[in-house]
Order: sequence, then structure tokens, then C-alpha cells
Amino acid sequence: MKPPTLTRTVRSGSPEETHRLGVRLGGLLQPGDFIGLVGDLGAGKTHLVRGVAEGAEVPRSQVASPTFAIVYPYSGRIPLYHADLYRISDEDELYATGFFDLVGGPGAVLVEWLDQVPGAAPREFLRLTLRPTAEDARELQAEAFGARPAALLAAWLP
Ligand code: ADP
Ligand code: MG
Repeated sequence: MKPPTLTRTVRSGSPEETHRLGVRLGGLLQPGDFIGLVGDLGAGKTHLVRGVAEGAEVPRSQVASPTFAIVYPYSGRIPLYHADLYRISDEDELYATGFFDLVGGPGAVLVEWLDQVPGAAPREFLRLTLRPTAEDARELQAEAFGARPAALLAAWLP
């Protein structure tokens, strides 16, 4: 894989801080953006996504934790698709869900457990890796691949 176009690392000291980081990112999302989230169970991926949904003006009642479906569609300022690939084992299985029809479409796509199916990512995307550094602290590493993801990252974490 090519090296990232732009990287940033930030620390979050609480679940609320992670949520607020998400809110700011959600306010910047545009149709076609693709964000992949990587990190073990409990790393904070869903907390971040909930913040992004709020920032994208998705009504709180729509936001689920993707448990039963692979992709949840939300409607905010733009359409937002929240996917969780935890239970997906390969690309063929993902094809069958219709996931790839959403990529590059009229909405932004947020994918938890992107590393489960690396081929799920388009050529240009923003990868966010969350790592616990203490009980309530997380390190968030952001890697932008491509010009638009880099512009998004630069606006989010200047
Ligand atoms: P994931 O989707 O990665 O499995 P969740 O967002 O569902 O993770 O859960 C993260 C858990 O970690 C929650 O219980 C949350 O309260 C806790 N947590 C502690 N500190 C943080 C932090 N700084 N950011 C996000 N979550 C945190
Ligand atoms: Mg989750």
C-alpha cells in the first residue's frame, strides 16, 4: 500500500472528548467521503461514529450500534452509511450485502473494522486507528490516502 498523503495523531482523554472529535469531523463530511475505523473491541470506534453522525446532523434516534445489519443508513445533512465488518470474513461476502454500491455514492461511508476486509476501502480514504493508552485515554492515528481525504484531515485536525 502507498504511504499516506497526510497523517495526524491526537489524544483523547475521555469518551466525551472522542465524541466531540467525531462531531467536528461530521461537520466536514461530503458525499463520497470514506472513513475506515480500526481498533480492537472497546477502542472507541462507535463513540467516534456517533459523534460524526451528530456532526452530520443525523437525528439521534436513527443512530444504532450495527449489530444485526452490516450497513445502517442514516439521513442527516448528507446521507451517512455506518457499516460494521466485524462479522464479514471476505470480500465476496461483502459484495453480497450491496456494500460496494454505497461507496462513492451520494453519501459518506463510515466503516468499523475496516481491517477485517482491507479490500472494502476505495483508492482514496481516511483511516482512523484507535488505541487505548489508559483506562479513559485513547490515541487516535489518522492517515489520509489521497487528496480529498488529506484536505478533510487537514481541516479536521489542523
Ligand atoms: P468500539 O466500537 O471500538 O468497540 P465503543 O465506542 O463501543 O468501542 O466503546 C468504547 C468504550 O471505551 C466505551 O465503554 C467507552 O466508555 C470507553 N472509553 C474510555 N475512554 C474512552 C475514550 N477516550 N474514547 C472513547 N471511548 C472511551
Ligand atoms: Mg463498535
